[in-house]
Amino acid sequence: MRNIWDISRPLTKDLAPWPGDTPFRYELTWRLSQTCSVNVGALNTSTHNGTHADAPFHFHGEGAAIDSVPLENYIGPAVVIDLVEKFSRTQPSIAIADLEHARPQIAETRRVLLKTNCFPDPTRFPDWIPVLKSEAIAWLSELRVVLLGVDVPSVDPIEAKFWRIITLSHSERLPSLSHSN
Ligand SMILES: [Zn+2]
Repeated sequence: MRNIWDISRPLTKDLAPWPGDTPFRYELTWRLSQTCSVNVGALNTSTHNGTHADAPFHFHGEGAAIDSVPLENYIGPAVVIDLVEKFSRTQPSIAIADLEHARPQIAETRRVLLKTNCFPDPTRFPDWIPVLKSEAIAWLSELRVVLLGVDVPSVDPIEAKFWRIITLSHSERLPSLSHSN
């Protein structure tokens, strides 16, 4: 059997949410005791917290909600592209040149995980993140990528008011994963 790697970021009460969004909270509403036979927890959180999948609906009112996105997109071999220490606040763009060396694996797996380490402290929401250039989005779309994963809160700039990834989401029904907030 293949190894299954858990790349999710732990959900904790000090996890920094997207500014203004609902933070993650967990509490035991029932506690095991002499008068109670079970522990039962309750969650209150934005669905955008921690490592999560954004459905096309996240980016577009008429896009598919998460229950309509094919589960197969999320399961299977993926290529991890190591971009650690490639970016800075003044050089925040991911270009085709950064991805091209992995073209055979991208074409084969159609699942791409970008490792940037630009969100190292989960308790501090980053004030900049590396983002894909439009040319790189189009290039991934041409390769018929079905899953794009990033280790930062978004696939577009933090301050963006519209989402370029929608191009990819719509044409290829691309679900995205992020280590958000
Ligand atoms: Zn999200």
